[in-house]
Amino acid sequence: MTKLHLNRRHLMAAAGALAAAPVASVLRPRTAAAAVPLLGRDEPTHYRFKLGDFEVTMIADSDAFVDGPWPLIGGNTEQSEVQQLMKANLLPPNKYRPGFTPMVINTGKEVLIFDTGNGERGFVPRPAGGWLAQQLAPSGIEPEQVDVVVLSHGHPDHIGGVLDKGKSLFPNARYVTGAIDYDYWSSDKPTGDLAKHAALYRDYVVPFADKTTFLKPGDDVVPGISAIKAYGHTPGHLGFDIESNGKRMVFWGDCAHHQVASLARPDWHCVFDVDKEQAAKTRERMFDMVTSDRVAVSGFHMPFPSIGYVERRPEGGYRWLARTYQLID
Ligand SMILES: [Zn+2]
Repeated sequence: MTKLHLNRRHLMAAAGALAAAPVASVLRPRTAAAAVPLLGRDEPTHYRFKLGDFEVTMIADSDAFVDGPWPLIGGNTEQSEVQQLMKANLLPPNKYRPGFTPMVINTGKEVLIFDTGNGERGFVPRPAGGWLAQQLAPSGIEPEQVDVVVLSHGHPDHIGGVLDKGKSLFPNARYVTGAIDYDYWSSDKPTGDLAKHAALYRDYVVPFADKTTFLKPGDDVVPGISAIKAYGHTPGHLGFDIESNGKRMVFWGDCAHHQVASLARPDWHCVFDVDKEQAAKTRERMFDMVTSDRVAVSGFHMPFPSIGYVERRPEGGYRWLARTYQLID
């Protein structure tokens, strides 16, 4: 690392600035006797950066904690093993905070939103989740400006924001989703808990069928954005490869549900995965690809703003590296 050199000129300038400070302001006691009210927790709810010629805005849909990660993640191993991993990573053993992060991309020609959060009936309904409708305007985006709603898969925390108070939140949008996922969720194949999700799907996604394009892996959403096969979490779950002017990012949807547990142990089952073995294989393949290609990742359930990179751990498995300034020009 290069040393930070402060030369004589810098030091003289600093001394000069101090000398120029009004004496009164230096000597005046601060009014510390009056208690200042605490301001309370304050966290960002949107985050914007450029990817080539595209502009990407990440929007927080929830700040909820849930019990876990075990057994939501790692249900096929001992609780203590997951707790140990949390402890080693300075995280609480029995609660965690997944991100729920819809992503807006303005390509310069069209505005796309990838997944819509929980809405009124998702996994984390209001007020703890379902923030997207309220967070669009503060993020600088009007729902009417959205041209394309892309749904990675049919789960309630991804489709729940399509409607707001019974009406389409995005009145001018067309829809894009995987053909296999659409066929599954709109059929009577889902049973048990999955049947509840299918009921929501029938209310939220099926009504837009005539405005929907059904994709298979490799198909383009718009130029520069194409679907990647990520089956297992749901039967037709899709990721997306996003490239603009030499910059690339992969949106992996729900390939990971905890930034440490899912990455360190791709073989640990996730309770939300419809086909657990297939999802584990997909995770491994996705992590291997983004690590080998050294590309940015947009991960819906990674901690907000859910943008990062992945590295291989020497002991096996992977590690999430939350972005710092890699994408800032
Ligand atoms: Zn999800």
